[in-house]
Amino acid sequence: MQIASNAAPVTAQINLIGLSRAELAPHLLGLGIPENQVKMRAQQIWHWMYFRGVQTFSEMSNISKDLRTLFEARFTLARPEISSEQISKDGTRKWLMRFADGKEAETVFIPEDERGTLCVSSQVGCTLNCKFCHTGTQLLVRNLTPAEIVAQMMVARDALDEWQSEDRHLTNIVMMGMGEPLYNFDNVKAALHIVMDNEGLSLSRRRITLSTAGVVPMMARCGAEIGTNLAVSLHAVRDEIRDEIVPINRKYPIAELLAACRAYPGASNARRITFEYVMLKGVNDSLADARELVRIIAGIPAKINLIPFNAWPGAPYECSDWSQIEKFAEIVNRAGYASPVRTPRGRDIMAACGQLKSDSERARKSAL
Ligand code: SAH
Repeated sequence: MQIASNAAPVTAQINLIGLSRAELAPHLLGLGIPENQVKMRAQQIWHWMYFRGVQTFSEMSNISKDLRTLFEARFTLARPEISSEQISKDGTRKWLMRFADGKEAETVFIPEDERGTLCVSSQVGCTLNCKFCHTGTQLLVRNLTPAEIVAQMMVARDALDEWQSEDRHLTNIVMMGMGEPLYNFDNVKAALHIVMDNEGLSLSRRRITLSTAGVVPMMARCGAEIGTNLAVSLHAVRDEIRDEIVPINRKYPIAELLAACRAYPGASNARRITFEYVMLKGVNDSLADARELVRIIAGIPAKINLIPFNAWPGAPYECSDWSQIEKFAEIVNRAGYASPVRTPRGRDIMAACGQLKSDSERARKSAL
């Protein structure tokens, strides 16, 4: 049998988003680009992709038409689809992103006067099962790839229409969406390196905060290899209570967690570790808890972010009374720690801390 000679080879297009320069190089060589031009081509592509935000190769006007046509045939710059968008009455925007395999995760943009923060997911679902967290009721579906993590910021820039703008609203990133970033370390690291790269999305590491529930063995590497600000979801000052509400504590108890914080590379008064502390009525919000908190973190350059509990359907907790939050904050503050109370944002669209969840499910073995 003769095979039609003009049949195009069936090769999937390669998505260039999320590839490091080193990963991009062989693809360019594979197109026949001479070795001594690869670096320059990679730079050109990165500039268009991450600085200008273009979505097609035809817009890359300083690259020859022939080469653009070749790129178009073999590569893509496709983003995840926005499968829904909700806008809160306070201006917070939540996007449900659908990735190439149909799995979904949420990304939230929180505009403030002086800055705009994008809350980025690292996993679809989560393994941690923190009792007060809505995402924790969803099983882990899978890790997000570097491309999917980087693309959340690119989609936000698209939606805010601010690639060309001098005055950008998206100024900060928090890795505080769905998932535990330190359980997806390699992909989060690869993604953040592109976000921080001067020729990439060019956001300073000082404007990025990674939050962990306390994956102690990865914390030193996080400081050394990623180097962003660190936030730690502490939420309780006694192991009996933390074991219950943040079950990873049974593996890495408070003393080990705080020792890792003390050793965190780069922690200083200028770069404090943020301890997140969700205020759960009658569970962790006594004034004795506040005093114990300042005792156990003594010596760590820190600030305490008190988070009023955000409810979700079926949640087994209530938020502490406002007056109690104020008294708690006062004790922490008098001990010399900044203790801002995080203003709940986007509660009306279930976009506030701990309210994120998608319908994606892990495929059952029988369905594979
Ligand atoms: N897994 C990481 C990243 C998630 S960050 C971590 O645990 O740090 C999300 C933050 O919101 C965490 O501090 C989390 O504990 C907190 N949170 C979760 N559920 C919440 C809720 N219902 N109300 C307020 N904060 C919540």
